[in-house]
Amino acid sequence: MHRIHILDKDFEISMTNETIQQKVKALAQRINHDYQGKNPIMVCILNGAFMFAADLVRYLDFQPEITFARFSSYEGTDTTGKVTEVMGITTSLAGRDVIIVEDIVDTGITMYNVLPLLENKGAASIKIACLLQKPEKLQVDLTVDYCAMEIPNDFIVGYGLDYDGFGRNYKDIYTLAK
Ligand code: 5GP
Ligand code: MG
Repeated sequence: MHRIHILDKDFEISMTNETIQQKVKALAQRINHDYQGKNPIMVCILNGAFMFAADLVRYLDFQPEITFARFSSYEGTDTTGKVTEVMGITTSLAGRDVIIVEDIVDTGITMYNVLPLLENKGAASIKIACLLQKPEKLQVDLTVDYCAMEIPNDFIVGYGLDYDGFGRNYKDIYTLAK
């Protein structure tokens, strides 16, 4: 499928699953290298990262613990935004090496606000692994440790990412048609 329609919008394929798999595998190899002999816990950020996390962990050559968290963001007067944990992490992070698994870092505001919440749980180290980043849009001082792909500033769907709740199921990534 080269073109899909979701609600009122058309999207065109911009990245095939084959390309995504190559990039996710390469990212996993970096994580395999850096976490040799360690015992990290991976925190998959719902909903968007579910597909990325499922593929990423299957390319790892160690046995990470895997847990899930969900945060909601509120638009307020505060320019840096605010996020709250709406589905909490039940596993203790105290003293653990944490790898956050996120779908996409756009302005970076979500991850910027999530980091202190996890730091407060006593993690020994926290790194961010994301599938995609739009470097042009970064608004905060955020280090993304592992990024599978950098993309231009366009709205995308598929491979876990949605438009108004739909489109997450596609194995490829699609960009909003111009
Ligand atoms: P940030 O806080 O970095 O601006 O935004 C991060 C969140 O915005 C991502 O986790 C994702 O849910 C959403 N987001 C950002 N860009 C896109 C996009 O192109 N497509 C979709 N579907 N969601 C996006
Ligand atoms: Mg997200």
